[in-house]
Amino acid sequence: MLLDGLLDDLLDYLRLSPTPFHAVENACHRLQGFTRLDQTAAWSPLAPGRYFVVHEDSALVAFVIPDTPSVRAFRMVVAHTDSPNLRLKPNASYAKEGYLQLGVEVYGGVLLNSWLDRDLGLAGRAVVRAADGALSSRLFCIHRPLARVAQLAIHLDRDVNDKGITLNRQQHLPPIVALAGKTEVGAIDELCAEVLGVAPSAIVAMDRMLFDIAAPCLGGLRNDFVFAARLDNLAMCHAATLALNNALPSEAVSLVALFDHEEVGSGSAMGAQSALLPRILERIVLARGGGREALHRALAGSTCISADMAHAVHPNYADRHDPQHRPVLNGGPVLKVHSQQRYATMASTAALFRQLCDAEEVPMQLYAHRSDLPCGSTIGPITATLLGIPTVDVGNPMLSMHSCREVAGSADAERMTRVLTRFLQC
Ligand code: ZN
Repeated sequence: MLLDGLLDDLLDYLRLSPTPFHAVENACHRLQGFTRLDQTAAWSPLAPGRYFVVHEDSALVAFVIPDTPSVRAFRMVVAHTDSPNLRLKPNASYAKEGYLQLGVEVYGGVLLNSWLDRDLGLAGRAVVRAADGALSSRLFCIHRPLARVAQLAIHLDRDVNDKGITLNRQQHLPPIVALAGKTEVGAIDELCAEVLGVAPSAIVAMDRMLFDIAAPCLGGLRNDFVFAARLDNLAMCHAATLALNNALPSEAVSLVALFDHEEVGSGSAMGAQSALLPRILERIVLARGGGREALHRALAGSTCISADMAHAVHPNYADRHDPQHRPVLNGGPVLKVHSQQRYATMASTAALFRQLCDAEEVPMQLYAHRSDLPCGSTIGPITATLLGIPTVDVGNPMLSMHSCREVAGSADAERMTRVLTRFLQC
C-alpha cells in the first residue's frame, strides 16, 4: 500500500479492530504477498520471500527474508495489539434490580471515568465445537449500542464535581444491557452464538470485551486531530505493518512483531516477555541454512525499534511535563528516554532514529518524564533484555492515553510510517 489514503486506512483499521484478535486479523489483511507459516510445520528450507506467523490470534510476527546466502542481521519493529478496556467475566450475565447486567474485569490501566455513558458494543473470539468435535477459533463483533455503564445522576452524588469521581471496580462498572427477568440471563451468550451463526451449545469458551462504537474520525477546526479509541497502540501497529509492506529489500531480515498483553506487563504466551520472538528468529536462521553460531552473529548485528504512543503536552496540565520535553501533536515522532530503562533508548539507538528522521526530513521530538513522577514503560526494555539487541523507544504523540476515546495528530501517522519504512530497508 502506498502512503496515499494512509489516514483513511488508519481510521478503518481502528474501527475494525475492537480487540487484539481483530487487530491481528486486520494487520494480516494489510500484508501484501505474505505467506502464512504454521508454527507446528517444518520451515526448512525457507526461500527468500515474505512470511508471517499468527500466535493464538492476538500476536503477529511478519518478516521479509532477503535473497542473501544466510541471515546476516534483523531489523525489527515491535508494537502491541492490546489496549486497556473492560472485559467480560466468564459467567458475565446476571439480573439485578430488574436489569440484565454484565460482570466485567478491568484490563490494564483504564481511565475508568472515560467508559461512563458511552454506547458500548461487544467483540472477541469464541472457540466453537463442530459436529465432528473439532475446535476452531472464531472472531465476532456486535457493533451496536448494546451496553452502557450509566453514571450516577448528580442529584444522587452532589460532591462529584468538587471531589472527583471514585469508581469501585466491582460495584460501579457492570454495564446494563436490558430490562430483564431471570429467564433471560443467557441472552448475551445466545446473541454471541447468533452472530457467529452457531448454536449456543457449540460455543465452548469465549474471550469478550466491550468497546465504544463511536467511529474514529478526524477532528478539530482544521482536522488537526484524530479522535479514536485504541490509538495506543493500534496506530503504531498500523504504521509498522504498512512499513513492512512498503520497505524495499534490505540485506537484513526485516521483521515486525505485534504482541498482546503489554498493558498488563507482557507476561503471556503472546506477550513480549515470551519465547515467541526468540524462537521465530532462531527458526528463520536455521531455515536459511545457518546454525547457532549464525544465529548469535545475526543477533549481534541486529537493531530494534519499539513503537508505542507517547505523551504530548496537555495545555491544561502543562506542569505535569518536564519543562524541556514537551512534545506536541503533529510535531513528528517522539524519541523516549529514561535513564532507569523504563525506555530502552540509549545514545547509539537515539542517533540511529534521529538519522532515520533526518533522512526522511521528518521533525523529531524528545520525551523525558518528570523526575518526580513514576514513568510508564513499554515493550522496548523487555525485548532488549530478552534478546540483548540495541533498542530505541519511540512513538507518536497523543493526549488522553488509556481513555476510551483518545486524541492524536493527523499529520504524524504518515511521518512515522515513512521513518519505520526507511529503518526496515536499511
Ligand atoms: Zn502502549
